[in-house]
Formats: sequence, C-alpha cells, structure tokens
Amino acid sequence: MVISDETVNRIMGPEPIPQLDIEMSEIQNELQKKMAEEINCIMCGNFPYQPLECKNCNKLFCKQCQLQLKNSSQQETPGYDNCCPSCQARGDFLQNINKVLQNCVDFCEYPH
Ligand SMILES: [Zn+2]
Ligand SMILES: [Zn+2]
Repeated sequence: MVISDETVNRIMGPEPIPQLDIEMSEIQNELQKKMAEEINCIMCGNFPYQPLECKNCNKLFCKQCQLQLKNSSQQETPGYDNCCPSCQARGDFLQNINKVLQNCVDFCEYPH
C-alpha cells in the first residue's frame, strides 16, 4: 500500500527540518565567496550589468557581454550568436532574474 505524503503529513505532521551541525556564522565567509561566484557575469567576471539569466543553467551574464558574443560570432556557426555563453543552450534568457540574485546585484549597483 502506498501512503500519500498528505496522509503521512496528517498523521506525523510535516517532516521536521534536519538539524545542520554548522552555524550560519561559521560558513558566512564561504557563503559570501560562493555568492560572488554565482553572481559574477560568466563572461567578464564582473558584477553583471543589466543581467540576463539563462533559463537552462541559471547563470548570469551582462546583456552587453551576450551582445558581444553575438557580434563576434562567426557566420559558419548559425545560431551561436543567440546561445548562452555558459551552457550553449539556444538563447532563452530571463530579463527578470531571480529576485534574490537581483537584490545582490543591486547591492553592488552600477551608477546610472
Ligand atoms: Zn559581463
Ligand atoms: Zn546556460
């Protein structure tokens, strides 16, 4: 017999959150590094300006950097100009990136 999650939740209550044996403060530095890595434009390595997010790999890159790729692309690779610089997925980019990442990018805001 298969017990649905719903039934389990009704009997046992929702699963408790597993305890991490690490304090937030202990990993803060690592987390910051990781965060900066995740936010950086994968092409220029800076904070992305007018960032786009690849729908496939969720990497961020500047709109400008993507356009550069477009301009430098060779005719013989059709479609390359519209590819994600990271995963090469055919361009399906989000203009509105993940809100959390957007907040981080805004924090290091470029002058307007
Ligand atoms: Zn860039
Ligand atoms: Zn991608």
